[in-house]
Amino acid sequence: MNFELTEEQKMIQEMCRRFAEKEIKPVAARSDETHEHPAELCKKMGELGLMGIAIPEEYGGAGMDYVSYVLAMIEVAKACASTSVIMSANNSLYCFPVNRFGTHEQKVKFLTPVASGKAIGCYGLTEAGAGSDPASMRTTAVLDGGYWIVNGEKKFITSGNVADYGVLAAVTDKEKGYKGISSFIWDLKNTPGFSVGRVEEKMGIKASGTAELVFKDARVPKENLLGEEGAGLRQMLTTLDAGRLGIAAQAVGIGRAVLEEALEYAKVREQFGKPISQFQAIQWKLADMATELDAAELLLLRGAWLQDNGKPFEKESAMAKMYASDITMRATVEGVQILGGYGYCKDFAMERHMRDAKICQIYEGTNEVMRLVIARNLLKGK
Ligand SMILES: Cc1cc2nc3c(=O)[nH]c(=O)nc-3n(C[C@H](O)[C@H](O)[C@H](O)COP(=O)(O)OP(=O)(O)OC[C@H]3O[C@@H](n4cnc5c(N)ncnc54)[C@H](O)[C@@H]3O)c2cc1C
Repeated sequence: MNFELTEEQKMIQEMCRRFAEKEIKPVAARSDETHEHPAELCKKMGELGLMGIAIPEEYGGAGMDYVSYVLAMIEVAKACASTSVIMSANNSLYCFPVNRFGTHEQKVKFLTPVASGKAIGCYGLTEAGAGSDPASMRTTAVLDGGYWIVNGEKKFITSGNVADYGVLAAVTDKEKGYKGISSFIWDLKNTPGFSVGRVEEKMGIKASGTAELVFKDARVPKENLLGEEGAGLRQMLTTLDAGRLGIAAQAVGIGRAVLEEALEYAKVREQFGKPISQFQAIQWKLADMATELDAAELLLLRGAWLQDNGKPFEKESAMAKMYASDITMRATVEGVQILGGYGYCKDFAMERHMRDAKICQIYEGTNEVMRLVIARNLLKGK
């Protein structure tokens, strides 16, 4: 077994570390306050190839592997979780399905601008009444001549307020249940009948917009159907298997920031005449954090490696997402505790890490749903 990264993987990790430290981390607290989409950063990340890392160069991507993608995500999330979510949705929720299921013509037209970072992509599965159970979605698409006419609303869509393009699912045949759901590629800036609804006020990842997308007799051209009619839910769920690796990476990145900042603080903060790092109670917290973070990162890298090597990884990506987000949430709680009263205040980033970490246990499938996915695979003998 070889734990060594390739030269290319080390290179992107190092490049992202330097970029995130210099350009992203210094503005993270401000973005958290203003809730503004970091458009300039996204542009620069596009120029560095970070908005379509595992997409072929022919379609505007960097042509690298999924291990490189998760390594880059960790570095960006360590600096700013909000920015990492935008990167993750762009890479794995929009670019991945268009690349996997789209035709050459669709990829040239709809993948190239997003993978190259010139435009932003989003993914719309969730609705107000359809979260963990997306098959109960109500948005409908009816074919009328050369267009599908779409009516309904998508909820909680990452980057939905700023996105240029989206992959969105709708019911095309109600009689067929989940086999009657199809997905479409949308040019959101040029769609009559489409509008952005409410933008959510959230606990964390505040610079990542989370919006409702509203379709009132919205028209999407027939040729924008992604893959086959009726294959939409399967495509969307396959997309989430890959996407969960991005969320696991986001969690590991936040966890790495927590450990680094808690360690630094514990070494300099003195009480009872010595640094608090000398107290065993603090040392044990740091030891648990470091061990669990390494375990989460190994689960994550295994999932990405399986994907890169064309092997099944549904169970492994669910394990990585669930474990990384659970242990990082715990690490942020302990991180705040190590900083005491200062951890509770905004002078330090620790309280932001705690708010940012929570969402990783919820989106792209809650951790309860992750346990269902893992158990389903176990019971099938996988
Ligand atoms: C900030 C943010 C960004 C998001 N981005 C996107 C996006 O870009 N695109 C998109 O399509 N969606 C997005 N989502 C939606 C997200 O994926 C859903 O919120 C999530 O899947 C949970 O759905 P829900 O909120 O409706 O919760 P519900 O499904 O109502 O779940 C409520 C509770 O019940 C539990 N539960 C539900 N079913 C079961 C079960 N069978 N067994 C055990 N427990 C169960 C859940 O685990 C949870 O604890 C985003 C959400 C947020 C908050």
